[in-house]
Amino acid sequence: MAPFHSHLFLPLLLLFCLSSPSTSLATSVCVIGSGIGGSSLSFFLQNQTAIPTSDLSIRVFERRGRIGGRTAPVNLSGDLFNAGASIIHGKNLHAVRFAELLGLDQVEPNGADWLGIWDGSGFVFKTLKPPPDSSSAIWKWLYGVADALLLVKRYGLSLSRMQGVVKDLLEKFMLFYVEPEKRPIFKTVEEMLKWNGLYALSQITLEEVLIHADLSARLISELVTVITRINYGQSVSMSGLAGAVALAGSNADLWTVKGGNWLLAKGLLELTNPTLHLHEGIESISDKGDHYLLTSDKGKEYECDVTVVATPLDEVNITFVPPVSIPHRRMQHTYTTFIRGLLNPKYFGLSSVEDIPDLVGTLETPNVSFSSVSILKKYDERDFAYKIFSRSELDDTLLDQLFSVRRDTIRIDWPAYPHYKAPEKFAPFLLDERHLYYINTFESAASCIETSAVAAENVARLIISRLLQSSTEQDIKPLPTSQEILHTDL
Ligand SMILES: Cc1cc2nc3c(=O)[nH]c(=O)nc-3n(C[C@H](O)[C@H](O)[C@H](O)COP(=O)(O)OP(=O)(O)OC[C@H]3O[C@@H](n4cnc5c(N)ncnc54)[C@H](O)[C@@H]3O)c2cc1C
Repeated sequence: MAPFHSHLFLPLLLLFCLSSPSTSLATSVCVIGSGIGGSSLSFFLQNQTAIPTSDLSIRVFERRGRIGGRTAPVNLSGDLFNAGASIIHGKNLHAVRFAELLGLDQVEPNGADWLGIWDGSGFVFKTLKPPPDSSSAIWKWLYGVADALLLVKRYGLSLSRMQGVVKDLLEKFMLFYVEPEKRPIFKTVEEMLKWNGLYALSQITLEEVLIHADLSARLISELVTVITRINYGQSVSMSGLAGAVALAGSNADLWTVKGGNWLLAKGLLELTNPTLHLHEGIESISDKGDHYLLTSDKGKEYECDVTVVATPLDEVNITFVPPVSIPHRRMQHTYTTFIRGLLNPKYFGLSSVEDIPDLVGTLETPNVSFSSVSILKKYDERDFAYKIFSRSELDDTLLDQLFSVRRDTIRIDWPAYPHYKAPEKFAPFLLDERHLYYINTFESAASCIETSAVAAENVARLIISRLLQSSTEQDIKPLPTSQEILHTDL
């Protein structure tokens, strides 16, 4: 655990002292994006004890007709599946808390326990095929032991070192949940990652991190590569921090929201009840000195004291007046293809579809055109729902080779997450000197439901602290020394 320095308590003490009921902070907050970032910001703003909820009026703008952004569901032949974010780690405490608060059930993700690693011409490794659900407990236990031994035989002790990297990541990540009184408020992602010791991981590649941790070349080029291709569509050249998050996402302790992960965003917005503008995209944000003027694609204008961008700025067309300058970032596109049908065993050089593993991961070789194929649901022996991840669109010719039966096909091209590189550069949370905030800068560290919530919580605290600070500057005029402390630490 990182040491807590006593000077960090001072600004928080000040915040507490300054938030007397007589200080009215009537403030309009405009949030662009109704994904988990925008919806959890709305939640965290309303759950700050430093400011009365009635002082804030929150508007959330969403260009689409649905809430949830990249947690959206997809309807494949009448069944709903997560189209984007599908798994959540058990130690993602904001998501766990949201689910509990909203009465949402946490269930096991659509399982694919049987892994095969495909190099384009054959399976280089397969785990053991799990026994049927009806098998006895002892048989299932024996299977578990044999499967673990098989993994150890191929990858040796490197496997436990890989778990060590994940454990280290999780321990440091947990610092984001310590009580607010013991946690600073951060203006930049760098400060935030340096505080809990994760910054160094963002400055070198995952491959470098794993070589340093003494993982074998085989583990890195096979199992780790399969995981980074599935979870971020990228190779082990991605940054070590996002790569370690990808490894955590292959852990056993995973869950998903029954009914779809988008219910988290929906529930948070229902709970906090901001004014929700669906089908209304924001086209420009102009700083008018004492407020921001937002113009929407409906030709409407909104005056906002505080503006929060809760979407990646990399592929959206919002004009800022004056312009803002942030480091260039490219989004990794992940093509997600959902198919109801049956894989063709011949494509994999097999004679029976039963010999194809439930999850086929692939290696970084030029002759594989997809990152993974996994079974989402088994209807009967010859009727499955599948999800395929790929870096480019899969055309009908290829899909007709890959599948012997194809009843329904849905293709989604996601600007999914940043294309990670090392060293990473980060845009600030605060995009100007006033009240223009950017949650999704934190995606350059790692992109997932939880990191959006973690960043949103910090931005909510930053907004409140700065509102209190400016109201103090206008109304109360505190001692200069106090001001200095606020500026230094916030
Ligand atoms: C294929 C895929 C798989 C993933 N797998 C996982 C996973 O298993 N687990 C996990 O935790 N994470 C996963 N992620 C990442 C996760 O989905 C994202 O990190 C997270 O959902 C981001 O939430 P957000 O609210 O920050 O952004 P978004 O969900 O992108 O929300 C931004 C919202 O802003 C809206 N918007 C954009 N521009 C405007 C505008 N000008 N005006 C108004 N509205 C606007 C968008 O329509 C969108 O609804 C995955 C992502 C993808 C694409």
